[in-house]
Amino acid sequence: MFRIPYDRVNWITSSFLIGTALIALIGAPIYLFHYGIDWFQFSMFFFYLCATMMSITVGYHRLFSHLSFKAKAPVKFFTLIFGACAFENSALNWCSDHRRHHKHVDHDEDPYDISKGFFWAHIGWLLFKLDPETPVDNVADLRKDKLVMWQHKYTHWIALVVGLIIPSALGYGYNSLMGLNPMQGALGGFMIAGVTRIVIAQHCTFFINSLCHTVGKQPYSTKHSARDSAIMAFLTFGEGYHNYHHEFQHDYRNGVKKWQWDPSKWTIWTLSKLGLVEGLRRVPDSKILLAEIGEAKRHAQQRVHEIQATHGYCQRTAEMLTQLSEKISANYHELEQAVADRVQLSREALQNWQDETRALMREMSKVAKMAAA
Ligand SMILES: [Zn+2]
Ligand SMILES: [Zn+2]
Repeated sequence: MFRIPYDRVNWITSSFLIGTALIALIGAPIYLFHYGIDWFQFSMFFFYLCATMMSITVGYHRLFSHLSFKAKAPVKFFTLIFGACAFENSALNWCSDHRRHHKHVDHDEDPYDISKGFFWAHIGWLLFKLDPETPVDNVADLRKDKLVMWQHKYTHWIALVVGLIIPSALGYGYNSLMGLNPMQGALGGFMIAGVTRIVIAQHCTFFINSLCHTVGKQPYSTKHSARDSAIMAFLTFGEGYHNYHHEFQHDYRNGVKKWQWDPSKWTIWTLSKLGLVEGLRRVPDSKILLAEIGEAKRHAQQRVHEIQATHGYCQRTAEMLTQLSEKISANYHELEQAVADRVQLSREALQNWQDETRALMREMSKVAKMAAA
């Protein structure tokens, strides 16, 4: 049976996480039932939620952890201020954990290792102290950044003032101006744009470590547990294409396809057009496709092995599947060679490779289905 290891409980973090969750789940609904919500409170909540989430995804994650682009001071400043408001610790600590997560994914040194279970990856790692505490020794580059170090020093103060006191004060001020009860406005700002927003932003971030390593597809790699899911991308401002992200962590895009929901990518791109960020790093299309065809090849070979392993398998089906699988492998090796030789491949050529592989995969599914019927 599960026993709580009381000697390892991180009391401050646990009290905060449980306390804020209770306010959001019980306090906020009672407030809304009594007073409802006006456009001012709602706008403030919406702004704070977007600013906090974007500061985590664009700032803490893609900029500071992965250096996937370079940012001018205003972008750094904004994401450090509102990133602190997520109450997820300083950028320096966050990035150290996150870099360790990528380096040791699914292994013991991964701070939110999914192989220790869904609960651990989501929130358990925060509730209980790691034994022994891990050193912050993989962020030497960030230590040279004065803004990052300033935020590291004052992160809790910034979070408290900008994340909780300012929305309360704004609620107070707005209600005073409108001739409404100012204390009710302050309470609303505290509970909705303050605490409820913190809880939503935190759990959306935690989902990346739990659900994004559990739910979805693995089109680019099965070497790690990270998965791609459109629903998760919607909940996490684009971070749900986590299989791609773990395979190509320095790319500023997580949803690499044009149609994929990735507001963080759109924001970075827009900021680059405004001259506020530069040096956006992209993995070449040929390398991305190579990873996809590599996965298709692995699936195809697995399918052939599976049919051969079944008792009394049909010789003819196995031969057809083997032939199709070999064609996919040939496609893969051809592209692999072209990438190794740094051949300039046109968009059409890549599209042909992709279409052909997809057609072969479909054909394999058809053959396998017919054999099973
Ligand atoms: Zn991950
Ligand atoms: Zn990452």
